[in-house]
Amino acid sequence: MATELLDFWIKQQLGSDNLKELHPFPSTYSQTRSQDVDQGLFITAEKSLDTYGELFEAHTSICNGKLKVLKRTMKGHVASVRLMCTKEKSHSYLWSSSSYLPNDEFLVNHRICHAFYSSGLLPVHYTRFVNGAGIGCITKERRSKLFRKYKKHAENESVQSVDNAINDEISSYDDLDGINIMTDARHGWRKNTKDTTVVALGEKTHKVMDCEHITKSQDKVA
Ligand SMILES: [Zn+2]
Repeated sequence: MATELLDFWIKQQLGSDNLKELHPFPSTYSQTRSQDVDQGLFITAEKSLDTYGELFEAHTSICNGKLKVLKRTMKGHVASVRLMCTKEKSHSYLWSSSSYLPNDEFLVNHRICHAFYSSGLLPVHYTRFVNGAGIGCITKERRSKLFRKYKKHAENESVQSVDNAINDEISSYDDLDGINIMTDARHGWRKNTKDTTVVALGEKTHKVMDCEHITKSQDKVA
């Protein structure tokens, strides 16, 4: 009885519209309208989504206006979004879909570059893919700049990995008087092979112990 009376009193005090504002829970399922299929897509990071939630919450606590996207600028695969309140113009916030790394570059763009370099995709495949998906694109200049930094780290990792693999192979023999390797040749081209990459694997561990790139000028039967 007391609860009913309280509910009645609250409804009288607030009116049904205000009640709606106190419980703004829109459905999280939304259907794409045909005019929206080409809307901008971008890549975001989980933590950035949390930041968006916190921003939204902080704004809701001081204002009952809605935050709408005023402008979206793509920085590689990251969206830098200017949000503006529908009620108060000074409530304007800038949100990025990625956090920054200590070098002030976006985590999302570095992660995508890492995926691109380690996938074996050609640059033309990368641009076709990202343009087809409409998820932004890291410029050629930017990719080259990142690649120069990435290459140094990848080379260090490779040397370390090969050292570890050789040590693992050596330690897997009970009676050591040398180690056995297996090789596997990967041809760079299907026809008129002009070069090949020969990978040496440890016989016991199957880990990569060396990787050599051989061209026709070095060996006619390569
Ligand atoms: Zn506002």
